[in-house]
Amino acid sequence: MRILKMCACCGKPFIAIKNKQVYCCRKCFKKMYRKRMKEVENRLPSWVCQYCGEKINLTFDPRKEFDLWKELKCNNCGKEAMSDNSDFI
Ligand SMILES: [Zn+2]
Ligand SMILES: [Zn+2]
Repeated sequence: MRILKMCACCGKPFIAIKNKQVYCCRKCFKKMYRKRMKEVENRLPSWVCQYCGEKINLTFDPRKEFDLWKELKCNNCGKEAMSDNSDFI
């Protein structure tokens, strides 16, 4: 199967062999992959309370602001985030 497509990274047209292919070359694929990883890294995580299932979007980065993370409590049931060994996601 050969389809003419536009690269999702550089915008150049290319011949895709597979339908799923969205980048013209390995280089573009890697470039976008790295960009996506960076976005994930910079995104603030959220925490789901193990007791009531309440999801809290954190306004700080718990990997950097450990003191704030230690003091975080569930909005709904008041359990501390640290107390159940749960991790942020
Ligand atoms: Zn490209
Ligand atoms: Zn809770």
